[in-house]
Amino acid sequence: MKRVAVGGFHHETNSFMDGSTGYDYFESHRDRPPLVHGQDVLKWLAPETGSFALSGFLGDTQNEFEIVPLVWGSGGAGATVTAEAFERISAEMVARISDALPVDAVYLDLHGAMVTEDFEDGEGELLRRVRRAVGEKIPVVASLDYHANVTAMMVQSADALVAYRTYPHVDRVRTGKQAAAVLKQILKDGRPAGRVLRKAPFLIPLNSQSTLVHPSSTVVHASTKEIAGVYCVSYLAGFPSSDLAECGPSALAYAKTQALAEQAADELEALIEKLETDFSFPLLDERQAIEKAMAIAKSADKPVVIADTQDNPGCGGTSDTTGVLAELLRHDVGSAVLGLFCDADAATAAHLAGVGSEITLALGGRHGPAPVVPLHQTFTVAALGDGKFATAGKVTGKRQVDLGPMALLRIGAVDVVVTSKRMQSHDLAPYQHVGVNVSDYKIVVVKSTCHFRAEFEPLAAEVLVTISPGAFAADPSQLPYKRLRAGVRRSPKTA
Ligand SMILES: [Zn+2]
Repeated sequence: MKRVAVGGFHHETNSFMDGSTGYDYFESHRDRPPLVHGQDVLKWLAPETGSFALSGFLGDTQNEFEIVPLVWGSGGAGATVTAEAFERISAEMVARISDALPVDAVYLDLHGAMVTEDFEDGEGELLRRVRRAVGEKIPVVASLDYHANVTAMMVQSADALVAYRTYPHVDRVRTGKQAAAVLKQILKDGRPAGRVLRKAPFLIPLNSQSTLVHPSSTVVHASTKEIAGVYCVSYLAGFPSSDLAECGPSALAYAKTQALAEQAADELEALIEKLETDFSFPLLDERQAIEKAMAIAKSADKPVVIADTQDNPGCGGTSDTTGVLAELLRHDVGSAVLGLFCDADAATAAHLAGVGSEITLALGGRHGPAPVVPLHQTFTVAALGDGKFATAGKVTGKRQVDLGPMALLRIGAVDVVVTSKRMQSHDLAPYQHVGVNVSDYKIVVVKSTCHFRAEFEPLAAEVLVTISPGAFAADPSQLPYKRLRAGVRRSPKTA
């Protein structure tokens, strides 16, 4: 039986946020498992309940391979990863591989957009170290997020990289299964001789990256075309908020020959360039978004969903900006619910006061950016929850979640779903946890960029996107890059 070492290390770094992401953040159990070690990796990422790529990989290999679990941790999205966190987790991964030698292969469940205090290409450095530990002959395969900023170092250090094809990410498990298939093929036939990475000459804003609609759906579709001799082609849209030279969209191909890989990657890259002007999306300020939502809601039998994209914790937002909430209170919106709003102090105050009580507090607004300020108001505590529940949606799968104390705070016609830990609105479960049925409202505001679409779009009359101030800049042309390679357009050309 082949011995295969498996692990994972995720971070999607927003280089333009203040602060850093430390080891303790990786260790905390939030809307994803805590940092887990050795046999605990198999318990937390089990195929039966896991929703990550490693779960899919294990489902297709654990009866065939002797699995050696290393370490797995996901820091979600946020500020630059500390040198300490990167070194501790990487060192543990490499030490466990070294202790397990000889192994026949390594599979890593990675994100691909990690920037650390020491390395702008975190995954490239990690893969370089793993390669050094196992030597040149042992296959190393990794899966990547659709938002990976793929680098030459990553491609050079791994034998194959496969990526999610969806945003919202509803195919993490499928990607792990694809990685398993690619690894089995490499163990049988040897590594692909051809591998090519091409980078597009412009960045794609996240709001234009959804694979539910053109142009990303068109590019993904093209990447799945079967070509004789080509093993795997991927389109990765990139994460524009990571500051590194090789930020941005990639076309990646593995094939029997270098010529075939070049042809496949060049064709896909040419398609991305050809569609450049299609990658644009209307973004509204808070007032425009709410007024438009109210106009649509008048004749709609479903809620209008507004994405508060720049406060999306999945991109490094703090989930506590108050711009949209303050604007809702300035309008007669009928009924609205806003979530998920992270303010642990407000949740604690609501629990101390109890359901039905009135509490006066300064809600959120503690992390900027200007002009974001706390919202001083009196709220009614409409419901409470302990924040422990299971998700069931297409993006999160069946995940045990711990968001700390939660509360539903009501002010006039507006309900606010308050959590103690950050979670993107990519699942209905946290709303249901405090008794909210989003279909009961005229307007639903979600702190999310695109992942919400998997669950919320089918319930919505229409989806709007607002660029209320927050830590995540939806328009990359506003970002003060220091490392981005010369000649890259920071947003797509408009028609
Ligand atoms: Zn992603």
